[in-house]
Amino acid sequence: MSELKLCQGTCCHKYTTQDRLKGTKGNKTYQTRRRSSFYYGNGNFCSLNCQNDWFNDFGDRAINHFGRLEEAKHLTEDNAWIKDYDWRGGYNSNDNRFYYFVNKVTKEQRPLTEEQYNDNNYTINTGE
Ligand SMILES: [Zn+2]
Repeated sequence: MSELKLCQGTCCHKYTTQDRLKGTKGNKTYQTRRRSSFYYGNGNFCSLNCQNDWFNDFGDRAINHFGRLEEAKHLTEDNAWIKDYDWRGGYNSNDNRFYYFVNKVTKEQRPLTEEQYNDNNYTINTGE
């Protein structure tokens, strides 16, 4: 069993749902949700509301801390590779998946292994 983590929403405890009401009888309080996993915000938030609450409170500071974008980024052939797959030879099994890189600028395709497709760090992009 993995460790429980707390929703990082700054107002999570203020949403008065039954599942947040915890404690011994006569001493119950609404509390921040605690789960083994969350679906929102990279696993940090129990709901979109909580994610938005956090962003409203801290988003500007976070953006300034990590570097506010000051100039538009450009999609060029150096950074336009995305991973995709299609089905070659039938729809019956995963064995027929054909993985590839496709360049959104040049439309060039290059084959990928399934392992490379699933590796989030694997890229052939050379620009940002
Ligand atoms: Zn929450």
